Amino acid sequence: MSPPRAPSPAELGRAIVARLDELAQISDEPGKITRLTLSPSHRRAVDRTTEWMHEAGMTTRLDALGTLIGEYPGASAGAPHLLIGSHLDSVRDAGRFDGTLGVVAAIEIVRHLQQSGKRLPFGITVLAFGDEEGVRFLSTLTGSRAVAGQFDPKILDERDEDGISRREALRDFGCPEGDASADWQGQNALGFLELHIEQGPVLEAENRPLGVVTAIQGVTRGSCRVTGKAGHAGTTPMVLRQDALAAASAMILAIEGIARDTTGLVATIGQLRVPGGAVNTIPGHVEFSLDFRSESDTLRHEAGLRIQAAIADIARNRRVEAKLYLGYEAPAAQCDGGLRQLMAEAAEATIDKPVRLLSSGAGHDAMSFRGRIPFGMMFVRSRDGLSHHPDEFSSEADIGLAAATLFRTVLALAERHDELN
Ligand SMILES: [Zn+2]
Repeated sequence: MSPPRAPSPAELGRAIVARLDELAQISDEPGKITRLTLSPSHRRAVDRTTEWMHEAGMTTRLDALGTLIGEYPGASAGAPHLLIGSHLDSVRDAGRFDGTLGVVAAIEIVRHLQQSGKRLPFGITVLAFGDEEGVRFLSTLTGSRAVAGQFDPKILDERDEDGISRREALRDFGCPEGDASADWQGQNALGFLELHIEQGPVLEAENRPLGVVTAIQGVTRGSCRVTGKAGHAGTTPMVLRQDALAAASAMILAIEGIARDTTGLVATIGQLRVPGGAVNTIPGHVEFSLDFRSESDTLRHEAGLRIQAAIADIARNRRVEAKLYLGYEAPAAQCDGGLRQLMAEAAEATIDKPVRLLSSGAGHDAMSFRGRIPFGMMFVRSRDGLSHHPDEFSSEADIGLAAATLFRTVLALAERHDELN
């Protein structure tokens, strides 16, 4: 196979940003970007994206859970498919890059293949998922999970805050009825690639345009309830106090310390409640949330035990009771070593220097493919590490370099495929 003409990063960046600007106009809130899953604006984004897919030589369909699927055939009938994509839905008052970047970049790559009249030894399936942000319904990643062959009909009964069920929303959206996971063609899929904004400050801090993802971190979430003894702020001497808030503060600092001292672990206490708290009362009850993540599940489990022990220690010393509930857990999803290597080589050929490998602290559609097919991810630098915010920004230059890297990765996969066959 002679390789198709590779588009320049500048060319790719310009074309992609123009389309991102267009998608940014599609919103359910004037002056803001709000495109919740299965909303009227999500539908309009699907319609526009469908037109782009057709222009790029793809056939399209919408699956039972609202994922727009565009297919660009391979050189021969029955050729395997490479999946590339991200999501079109957004949070409320979102930025213009989160999700849409990965969809638009994938279409742009196919458009260039089609323009140069080349077919690869595999087809390309562009996936525009529609349920990544999890703002409207309880469950999230339902579209990518279904494409990965995992579908739980219970999600259809989930209701949004207006009482509309997901089943009704899917019907109104124009989705065909049936089991979306029936579409799964894992045996014929080479892998899944996703390009996404970093949503963190690492690449910017190191002045790098892009990075290759090693894994999507696993997460444990829970809460801790500390019970001491309420008392009068004036009449209870310090030595006789069982202050639940002071104890919780010590616990929070201990958890922070554990995370600081452990490379590859992050821990966050994002909520703290002092029920019935008053300026002149020693707090008797406190609750705080806990979220800790790592790309190593072993490290995360060990951290959970250390956190538990630290909390128990502090509770004993301060004569309070502490109950830690770790109720939610999602394992880490490792990116495929082969795809990571190809992406890293493609990145280094594009940016002409060693590429940064980093893990993803946020969840992404790619993790739905864990244990199903190999997947790889790439990040583009985010200004101020900001996302889910109207000021979210990645430059046209960085986007161009990332898309060129993705294009190179696809070509490298095609070459490898040719060699193997
Ligand atoms: Zn996203």
